[in-house]
Amino acid sequence: MSTDIKKGNGQAAATAPATSNFLRAIVEADLQAGTYERPGLPSVITRFPPEPNGYLHIGHAKSICLNFGLARDYAGRCHLRFDDTNPAKEDQEYVDTIIDSVKWLGFSWEQDGTEHLHYASDYFDQLYSMAEYLINSGHAYVDSQSAEDMAANRGDFSRPGVDSPFRTRSPAESLDLLRRMKAGQFKDGEHILRAKIDMASPNMNLRDPAIYRIRHAHHHRTGDTWCIYPMYDFTHPLSDALEHITHSVCTLEFQDHRPFYDWIIARCLEGGFFQQPVPRQYEFARLNLTYAITSKRKLLQLVEEGIVDGWDDPRMPTIVGMRRRGYTPEAIQLFCERIGVTKSDGWIDMSTLEGCLREDLDPKAPRATAVLRPLKLIIDNFPEQLRDACTAPIHPHHPERGLRQFTISRELWIEQDDFMQEPGKGYFRLYPPIGDKPGNKVRLRYGYVVECTGCDRDADGNVIAVRCNYFPDSKSGTEGSANYKVKGNIHWVSSHDALEAEVRLYDRLFSDPQPDAGGRDFKLALNPSAKEVVTAYLEPGLAAAMPDDRYQFERHGYFVADRVDSVAGKPVFNRVVTLKDSWGK
Ligand code: ATP
Ligand code: MG
Repeated sequence: MSTDIKKGNGQAAATAPATSNFLRAIVEADLQAGTYERPGLPSVITRFPPEPNGYLHIGHAKSICLNFGLARDYAGRCHLRFDDTNPAKEDQEYVDTIIDSVKWLGFSWEQDGTEHLHYASDYFDQLYSMAEYLINSGHAYVDSQSAEDMAANRGDFSRPGVDSPFRTRSPAESLDLLRRMKAGQFKDGEHILRAKIDMASPNMNLRDPAIYRIRHAHHHRTGDTWCIYPMYDFTHPLSDALEHITHSVCTLEFQDHRPFYDWIIARCLEGGFFQQPVPRQYEFARLNLTYAITSKRKLLQLVEEGIVDGWDDPRMPTIVGMRRRGYTPEAIQLFCERIGVTKSDGWIDMSTLEGCLREDLDPKAPRATAVLRPLKLIIDNFPEQLRDACTAPIHPHHPERGLRQFTISRELWIEQDDFMQEPGKGYFRLYPPIGDKPGNKVRLRYGYVVECTGCDRDADGNVIAVRCNYFPDSKSGTEGSANYKVKGNIHWVSSHDALEAEVRLYDRLFSDPQPDAGGRDFKLALNPSAKEVVTAYLEPGLAAAMPDDRYQFERHGYFVADRVDSVAGKPVFNRVVTLKDSWGK
């Protein structure tokens, strides 16, 4: 890509430089050859064409980043187009969330003040005219076979199809029937409009594919205006052509549909419905992500059966779920750039996505302290009333971002696993005196060095508090601190000012890398520990966290203030991702 190309409309600033892929090579060759030089139009126009029948997921994000990314990098534009030709399954709710998700990912379909937000349903009139044209020019006919006969006569991979007895119907008769279909004179399925191509084609998609069917259904945008609806395979290429799309990028399963894509565009081009140059379709491998599922139907099942708490459950691989989980648009863009675009299917490991997330969050996220599984630590020699001010960097690599303030006092909260009554080998955190050996010393991060003296137990022998003494001259940041060499360094919050908060510890939704492989029941692969809710004690400053604010809780991972359940002064946190990958082994 040459550097003097101005940025197109897919604005998001990708954090990674664009890597080359076969699609970029195609686009660059077309730019070189001037294939799409037309007055008043950019030479690269792509589109992202969701059907509004569900929520977008990480697989769609790949397609979004690819399509909007090409437009951005080659000074073109990318259209958001809803392929809304199946009224029974579609809904305005889905339109709204898709618009929201694409915007959140950082992309825009606006160029020079014009919004390129389109709906296939906006073309219903034009598509209908094309259908009549196809009949008149001998390229389509109304078939009146029963659905069963039609299926049987289609043949299969080893058997050619059989011509419908209605295939030789005169254009006048077909036209009359189509008009009566449109006028609502027939029931669903009584007739269907088919392209007239070749019932013996080795490509099943060319065996006279259906192009219009009767559907007495209310459409979320056109209401009851229509009772016939164009088929996806007919609508999609023609919508591309009407919108002057140059490169129509889709997933590999559409490879076999490409001959029909080209056929239908060629016929309507002959009919003068649009001009050269026409769009061309290119296919790439869909994203398969381990420990996740990317099928709208299966995701819907998780929602409907209450296995997750809605589409935006932070365990879901939906864009709304990932957003609530604490993913950033930049992390998702980085991921999509990094996995690249190929022509053969494969699996991408979840750790790649999580790695991109850590990479994006680490330089950005302010640090904070959180005790997730609290145990009381009492410093017996610390003055009861003393509230001693401590500071810590907001970001260890960015001193200019300033300091966090909190105080240390006699009673603190520490993590349960930072104390052991009988330490194992290599355990350097708190443990009590053993025989004549003194208890272990650790540094209370940003505070003092303490020496463990013992612990309190309840009647059942459970440890309810750890006891220690501190060294008043050991405070971090003071000269005396250098005199203390300790191996353990633990975090804590003061019990007098800690913020009590609900923290949701999320993990991967499935414990099997390929939960639905080979048609397996993915519900058997659910990870029972994908969500754990704890009451934690947090650094007091976190009371100011706003929804969607992200932090690194030191030693734990990245956390976000939940965008739905947090209220002012009382944030609820979600674990975005741990600091290290624990699934690798
Ligand atoms: P459906 O079965 O409902 O058609 P779909 O996942 O194909 O589901 P669409 O709304 O048609 O959903 O998808 C919009 C676009 O996103 C399509 O161009 C599709 O190819 C692309 N897409 C969908 N899933 C993935 C995926 N896993 N990886 C990459 N692209 C995807
Ligand atoms: Mg689809």
